[in-house]
Amino acid sequence: MFKAWPAFFFFALCASAIAEPDFKSLGQRALTLSQEYIRIPSVNPPANTAQTAAFMQKLLESEGIECKLFESSPGHVNLVARLPGKTPGKGLLMLNHMDVVPADASRWPVDPFAAQLKDGLLYGRGAIDMKTTGIFQALTLITLKKEKLELQHDVLLLCSADEESGGDQGAQWMIARHWPEIECEYALDEGGFGTRDLLSGKGELVFGVSVAEKKIVWARLIAEGTSGHASQPVPDNANDRLREGLNRLDAMLKKDPGVQSRLLDDFQKRVSGMADNKFTRAIQRDTLSITSLRSGVGDPPKVNVIPSKAEATLDFRLMPETDLPGFLKRVQTLLGEIPGLKFEVTHSTDPTPVSDYRTPLFASIEKAIQREYAQAVVTPYLVPFGTDSNGLRQKGVKAYGLGTAVVDASIIASMHSDAERIPVDQFEPALRIYYRVVADYASAP
Ligand SMILES: [Zn+2]
Repeated sequence: MFKAWPAFFFFALCASAIAEPDFKSLGQRALTLSQEYIRIPSVNPPANTAQTAAFMQKLLESEGIECKLFESSPGHVNLVARLPGKTPGKGLLMLNHMDVVPADASRWPVDPFAAQLKDGLLYGRGAIDMKTTGIFQALTLITLKKEKLELQHDVLLLCSADEESGGDQGAQWMIARHWPEIECEYALDEGGFGTRDLLSGKGELVFGVSVAEKKIVWARLIAEGTSGHASQPVPDNANDRLREGLNRLDAMLKKDPGVQSRLLDDFQKRVSGMADNKFTRAIQRDTLSITSLRSGVGDPPKVNVIPSKAEATLDFRLMPETDLPGFLKRVQTLLGEIPGLKFEVTHSTDPTPVSDYRTPLFASIEKAIQREYAQAVVTPYLVPFGTDSNGLRQKGVKAYGLGTAVVDASIIASMHSDAERIPVDQFEPALRIYYRVVADYASAP
């Protein structure tokens, strides 16, 4: 009996310290709000986010949280809100983008902007990428305020425009023009998933928290040659030259897959057996996707005419540690041996560091996820695609891609697809994890 007293006090203390919000009703509210939010078609282009920003502003200001709006160009509105903490610095920025990619309604099973519930799923453009996360973040801010949690660190929210076009009018613009408004030590962004089949080959529940992303290099390969009658082949056919260039690039990447990221060693220590799929293959090597081939004379192209020009657009994604100038030099040397061939880089991302993950915030993420799912593996990893975190990492921010819903690979693949969707039963646990991560980090000294 006597021995039980310390335990009693311990639990009483914990209960008072972590008196928790009503997550059941918050989960329901997150679903309803996500539906309303998806119904605003903030399609990029043109990425008009005036209406979505007004929606977020109304939601936050009705709860007494002041918002600041920043219009980068007509219709491109970004929103910032902040709950101040006691200690300056070490702020945590929750970042989401309000724009979505277009949807071809004729290819969807339901109206992409009706936010319908069907078979336990919420369908709609932005369901995964990333309007529901935007709602989790807004509700986290609202709940922190309602619960009157004593914050040690500032908690900020940035709802950005234009991520789906690279963020030039959104997060990157905010970083370049209004850095003091969003300056932070940590950021939570998109790029993470809780999943049983995407990352583990053995069905383990793995939460991948993204701490890095691959470098993007977009380029054009242009071949020129002699045109003529197709009945008499020429040795300098532009199409042949282009094909030869593409074959060489393919062989080069097969031979040298780039630098294996050190952070994958940590991943492999935590996850028993990496799954083999297009996602996991992409995060282990430099890749190339040929995204267009243009050639021929006339439209449709004449089959009996050899054109004098052929062109391909190339999307390279390089491992974070692959040396970009060295890589480009190798490509130029390789292609320079083929006459009439020109390689032009049209866009590339600046070098970005891998975010340190031996940090208090990463520990809060592990703790909150494992409280919800005791068996879950939480691991740092990298994503093959670009996110707004790129610009933040260049500013020295430790940015993590965090997704708190548990979804299978087919749901993750529904991003940008013709049936984007998220399971309805994930709203409550996903919001609970999100809130606990932020509350745990921001209230600790
Ligand atoms: Zn996104």
